[in-house]
Amino acid sequence: MLHVKSLEETLAILRAEFPPADIGVETVPLAHAAGRVLAQDIAAREDNPPYTRSSLDGYAVRAADTFGASEATPAMLTNALYVPTGGPLPPGTDAVAMIEIAEKLGEYTLISNSVAPGTGVVYQGEDAKKGEVILRAGQGLSPRQIGALAALGYAEVAVKKRLRCGIISTGDELVPIESQGIRDVNNHMLRAQAEAFGCEAHLYGICPDDEEKLFSAIRQAHAECDVVLVSGGSSVGVMDFTRRIFEKLGRVLIHGIAMKPGKPTIVAKAEGKALIGLPGHPVSAFFVMLEVVRFLLQEKTTQRPAIMATLAENIPSNHGREDFIPVRLNDGMAEIVPYKSGLIALLAHSDGYIRIPRLTEGLERGAQVQVYTYEA
Ligand code: AMP
Ligand code: MG
Repeated sequence: MLHVKSLEETLAILRAEFPPADIGVETVPLAHAAGRVLAQDIAAREDNPPYTRSSLDGYAVRAADTFGASEATPAMLTNALYVPTGGPLPPGTDAVAMIEIAEKLGEYTLISNSVAPGTGVVYQGEDAKKGEVILRAGQGLSPRQIGALAALGYAEVAVKKRLRCGIISTGDELVPIESQGIRDVNNHMLRAQAEAFGCEAHLYGICPDDEEKLFSAIRQAHAECDVVLVSGGSSVGVMDFTRRIFEKLGRVLIHGIAMKPGKPTIVAKAEGKALIGLPGHPVSAFFVMLEVVRFLLQEKTTQRPAIMATLAENIPSNHGREDFIPVRLNDGMAEIVPYKSGLIALLAHSDGYIRIPRLTEGLERGAQVQVYTYEA
C-alpha cells in the first residue's frame, strides 16, 4: 500500500527539503555556454555599437540640406558621402539617405526626398551603454543571450556548474538497446531529459533485481552525483528493492504521488541529496521527470508553454489522481492518443498533453483545454 501525496504536497516537500544547491561556478567558452545558467552579471565593457554608424546602404547627409526635397525638385548635394550598411557616419552628417532615393549626377548627389535627422543611423551606445548591465546572474542562456554576449565581446562567461545526475535502470528483464528483448529505454530517455534540464548525466547501467547489486550501484551513484534517479522497482512488489535501499541510505519522504501515470514514485533524502525512485514504465517515468523531478534539476522552472485547443472527445477521470493525457493537435482540436498505443505513439507522436486536476470529474468533448508542450 502506498500512502500517496498530491502533486502540490509533493512539490512543497521538494522545495522545503531540497533548496537550490550551491554547487559552484565555472568559466566556459561562449561556444559552450548555450543552455547554461549565468553566474555573473554581464555589463557592456564599452559602448555598443562602438561608433555611430549607418544602418543602411546610402549617402550620409546633413538632414537640414534635404528639407523640402522631392522627385521634382531634388536636393543637389556636393558633400554627400556613400556609406555601406554598418559603416561609420562621417563627421558633420546626421542622417543616411537610402540608395533608392539618391542618384549621382556628375559631382552632385541628387536626393529626391527629405530625410529626417537620425534616419538610417544607429548611435554609439544605442544598443548598450558602457557599464550598463545587460544580463543578470541566474539568467538562462538561450541563443538570444549568446548573441548579446558575442556583441559585447564576452568570449567566455562564468556559469553555474551543472548538477550531476546519476541514472540507474533496474529490472531482470532489461537488455541493452543493441540487443533483442525489453530494451532499456529509461537510461537513454532520462539522460536526454536530464540534459535538457541542464544537468550532467552519469549513467550507471542496468542493474538486475538483486538487492545487494542495486544497493552498491545506488550507493556509488549517491557518492558521485548530486541527485540519483533509479527507474524500475519503485513499487511494493517482492522484486521491488528501491524503497528498502533508499531507507538504508537515508530517509524516505514520499512513496506514491497522486498522478496518472506516475503513482509509484519514491522521493528520499540521503546526506542532503535527493534519491528518486521512478516507475519503470517509460511513459510514467517520463511524466514524473517532467512534472516532479524537473523542479529539482532545473535552475529556472518556468510554466510550460501551452496552446489552447478544443477537446475532440469526452475524457472520464474520477480516480482521485491528477491525469496527464497525451494528445495530438489537429486543426485546433486535441485528440487523445490512446494509452494502449504504447510508448512510441504516445510520446513520439503526441504534440503535448492536457492535465485534469485531481478532483475534477473529467472533461467533455468541446471543452477548451490547455495543451502543454514538451519543450523544457
Ligand atoms: P517496474 O516499475 O520495475 O515494475 O516496471 C514496470 C514496467 O516497466 C515493466 O513492464 C518493466 O519491464 C518496464 N521497465 C522497467 N524499467 C524499464 C526500462 N529501463 N526501460 C523500459 N522498460 C522498463
Ligand atoms: Mg521491475
